[in-house]
Amino acid sequence: MAYFKEKKISMDIRRFKPIKQSRVSEEVAGQLKQSILLGNFKAGDRLPSERQLAEEFEVSRVAIREALRALGNAGFISVRQGPTGGAFVTELTFGRLADTYLDLFLSNKISIPELHQVRVLVEPEVARLAAQHVTDEYAGRLEAASAAENLPPVALPEDIDRKQALHFILAEMCGNRFYEGLVHSMLKLTRQVVEVINPDPWDMHPGNWHVPVVKVVLRKDSEGAYAAMRFHAMEFGERLIALERSFREENALRGRDLKASVMTAEADKKKRSIVGALSRLPD
Ligand SMILES: [Zn+2]
Repeated sequence: MAYFKEKKISMDIRRFKPIKQSRVSEEVAGQLKQSILLGNFKAGDRLPSERQLAEEFEVSRVAIREALRALGNAGFISVRQGPTGGAFVTELTFGRLADTYLDLFLSNKISIPELHQVRVLVEPEVARLAAQHVTDEYAGRLEAASAAENLPPVALPEDIDRKQALHFILAEMCGNRFYEGLVHSMLKLTRQVVEVINPDPWDMHPGNWHVPVVKVVLRKDSEGAYAAMRFHAMEFGERLIALERSFREENALRGRDLKASVMTAEADKKKRSIVGALSRLPD
């Protein structure tokens, strides 16, 4: 209590508020973000150079660089190197949402059992809605994705592509972009974890698991699609939870950590980090 009293007095007698250096870059980032959201800069557009921005905002280039880094991390821009490089406005996609969920998992704020709980809730509803939007084109894509799952075995990442393709088509078919975004986020997190656990693809998700789902969706049987997808989400989720648990237990004995492994795998993918690229931004 005494601490707060003392603190209050010292604030009262102080005449000026200290200005944090980070405030400047935050304001720059805020204005740039607003400009992007208002459509002044569209996806694919190049932002003015670091030097031009510094002149226009009347701030240091360090502050501009910090603001661009924040916008890059938030997924609003991407930085390309080379003579035609610069900071480019990116298309807002579900990918950003997916990255956020992955970060939450990595910082222990969501777990695989929690992911499973949501998948079991969302995916059956997605399948139910998808069954109401079957067109010839969608039917063709569902059949092709289902057939591809039974092609000769491939490495795990390609196997995951094959198995997730069907879920993505259903998400697109469901007609609700919020659900679609959730499905992309859930599947991306699932993929990261499965890639690190590295199970036998057939053990993780056999190639014939989607057959009952596709059958009822193509019959435009909404309730049947709901039930079939619920069954599938349950059996897959239970398997994932069990595999993740045993992976954790095995690796705890060896002093390794699942999250650290996922982070390392992610870092490998993003070798050309935005920090490194920013330092090479052309004027
Ligand atoms: Zn599946």
